Amino acid sequence: MKKFAVALGLALCVLVAVLVGRTWRLTGSSTAPAAAVKADLNASLLAGRLAKALQIQTIAHEPPEPNELIPFQALHELMRSSFPRTFSALKTEVIAGGSLLMTWQGSDPSLPPVLLLSHQDVVPVSPGTEGDWLHPAFSGVIDQGFIWGRGTLDDKSGVFGLLEAVEHLLLQGVKPRRSVILAFGHDEEVGGSGAKAMATLLADRGTRAEYILDEGGMVGEGIISGIARPAALVGVTEKGVVSIELTAQDPGGHSSMPPRTTNIGRLARAITRLEANQEPLRIGSTLAESLQALAPAMGFGRRLAVANLWLFSPVISKMLATSDSTRAGMHTTLAPTIFQAGIKNNVLPGIAKAVVNLRLIPGDSIAKAMQRVEAAIDDPEVKIRTLAHGREPAPESDPKAGSFIALSDTIQQVFPDAIVAPFSTVAATDAAHYAAISPNVYRFLPVRWGAEDQKRFHGTNERISVEGYADAVRFYIQLISNTAG
Ligand SMILES: [Zn+2]
Repeated sequence: MKKFAVALGLALCVLVAVLVGRTWRLTGSSTAPAAAVKADLNASLLAGRLAKALQIQTIAHEPPEPNELIPFQALHELMRSSFPRTFSALKTEVIAGGSLLMTWQGSDPSLPPVLLLSHQDVVPVSPGTEGDWLHPAFSGVIDQGFIWGRGTLDDKSGVFGLLEAVEHLLLQGVKPRRSVILAFGHDEEVGGSGAKAMATLLADRGTRAEYILDEGGMVGEGIISGIARPAALVGVTEKGVVSIELTAQDPGGHSSMPPRTTNIGRLARAITRLEANQEPLRIGSTLAESLQALAPAMGFGRRLAVANLWLFSPVISKMLATSDSTRAGMHTTLAPTIFQAGIKNNVLPGIAKAVVNLRLIPGDSIAKAMQRVEAAIDDPEVKIRTLAHGREPAPESDPKAGSFIALSDTIQQVFPDAIVAPFSTVAATDAAHYAAISPNVYRFLPVRWGAEDQKRFHGTNERISVEGYADAVRFYIQLISNTAG
């Protein structure tokens, strides 16, 4: 008995030593990146130029409306007049009617170019919410230190921010060693045919980019519980997406003599079965890297758990599952988004249809998800088909690659209080179309945001602070200086 107690005591000591030792290794390095290049920027001039872009209603519709491209031509005119040096120094090509591909030739053609993406289109204002805006969605008003309007965050600040940076560098007489390619899509919000066309053109020309940067993560303040420091999340992959349509069909008839199972009942049962058979939650490799990168900003208890996922991953996944946004990062989600049947209270509808939107976690695939859906519904009377515009999950870029480290250093130079971490973006971006151009695809918009800003994306009162926008421009200047020379 005594021997056993000693052995147990020893084993416990070893366990504690292992746990604490691993935690120690996650305390973070103290090496600070080089000081930022001083960029003298006039924040109110920058804001004024962005505000004008917000007034042009470059809305992407699905399917495209007649004359859809006219606002984009107006936006291009505004770009030309706002950034004359850029448009005279860079080769500009209009692709697929509204997308812009701009090449700033570097002095050393042996170096792979950097490819910087943003999109010019915006989503419409949801009908009935126009009056909820503090300033009309397309007025581009600057008030209370903010620039207000649809597109401030998603994603005209990226388009104009990049153009401001290039214009600034040209004014300074900078000539990059590495070519810088800007690619501004015009229909990201409805599938990104412009991005697809630009990616195909670049691939046909044999372009291999050092890295690609698109929108995605941001500098989040107070968005992750237990992390007091701002977290700069850089998307190194993104979830795939597919919508499936479920149909139940029979002759229908009078509601006074219903069959045992109606079309509505059958379809409702199919949806219930799907919701009851969700993918199990797990901490995948990107999420583990994300947690480990954030660990230095956590308290000792959490850090110990994150450093020892081999032991504590059930506890951590339970914690992450309490919020919808973090739970979405742990499995393929499914969401019923459309349910249609019936026209009259005493008529059995002959057909009932539903659409379920799936977001596929990296490692999953549309084919595997379809197999699971069929198995879960387990009813040959429910017809299942995939709708157009499905997308497989993007490949995962290596967060230890040199270009990720350069990006991370740039973030620290401009946002010195932030901690940088890779993560998987839940929403789809244009970047997914460029996977063949580079293995290093990152998704990050250099703007700070807080938890209450979440609802502004595609929502009401979208805005960016005047100072925050100047920081975004500063970031792009710094990034081009750091990585294109
Ligand atoms: Zn966007």
